[in-house]
Amino acid sequence: MPGEFDLIDRIRARAGRRPDVVLGIGDDAAVLRVPPGHDLVVTSDTLVAGVHFPAETSAADLGWKALAVNLSDLAAMAATPAWCTLALTLPDADAGFVDAFLDGFLELADELGVSLVGGDTTGGPLSITVTAHGLVPAGEALRRDGARAGDEVWVTGTLGDAAGALAQWRAGGPFSAKLRYRLDRPTPRVAAGQALRGLATAGIDLSDGLAADLGHVLRASGVGARIDLGRLPTSRTLADHFDEARRWPLQLSGGDDYELCFTAPASAAFAIEQALAACGVSATVVGQVQAGAGLAFMTPEGEDYAPAQAGFQHFQGVH
Ligand code: ADP
Ligand code: MG
Repeated sequence: MPGEFDLIDRIRARAGRRPDVVLGIGDDAAVLRVPPGHDLVVTSDTLVAGVHFPAETSAADLGWKALAVNLSDLAAMAATPAWCTLALTLPDADAGFVDAFLDGFLELADELGVSLVGGDTTGGPLSITVTAHGLVPAGEALRRDGARAGDEVWVTGTLGDAAGALAQWRAGGPFSAKLRYRLDRPTPRVAAGQALRGLATAGIDLSDGLAADLGHVLRASGVGARIDLGRLPTSRTLADHFDEARRWPLQLSGGDDYELCFTAPASAAFAIEQALAACGVSATVVGQVQAGAGLAFMTPEGEDYAPAQAGFQHFQGVH
């Protein structure tokens, strides 16, 4: 069985290296050059077996997802991803697992020009922590606290597909490969996030579900919102497998969408549509920001709707 350093050598041999990586894997720490006039945006996310993914998830999908969820956070900040580190805790020094994991991880990293510059390799129950670093022109990061009453609430893509896959998995089937792909291979909306610089007033990525995540934006901004459930963007596949009553909880509280939710004045709507269309991303207005606190959901019939539970919180059981 290979040792820790054999595994690190395998990783090092395959890691890409941008010109702004002064020193990558191999020293005590990486040295990275931040271009003048930019802010460094840093985020970290952990995936734990059995908590964040079904235990039988393939190593390649895990690699992809571990990086994707971090790049999604950078996208939500309107940052351009640049570098990442990888802390791997493995039950045993399984080179086959590491190779397959890197297949998925580096596929996404290479696609987006992100260099793996360091990390840590330890033994223990399977757990993966990625830290991602991005760049944004100074002062232009998209924050949670900028939503204003009257702004429109937007989401990219479609909502609920990943949660639909998880619901099918928990129920033991029937399974949709399309929904499962959305769970295992989320697409971080990196180009869309950058395109929203100067257009959106606030933004967040949807990791825990629209109800919880939009709630964070509203609290940070000191406002409320009303969402029209009839406007939630829904994939044909999700609609085929789940009727409205079963769909809404997935879309509001299911999580794992990794779409962006953002707010913007109505006057920016045309520019937003153009900017997002240019990066091949659809976006939909789903509601409006209102003065005062609270997040209300309205059915197409005009009735109030209360989501069962707002998102997933660790230490509070599963949803
Ligand atoms: P140290 O003992 O000085 O912390 P390590 O032996 O942990 O160094 O790591 C050696 C080098 O390999 C460092 O540059 C570290 O960043 C890198 N490294 C270790 N594990 C990983 C990993 N899983 N992915 C990428 N780089 C790693
Ligand atoms: Mg170390």
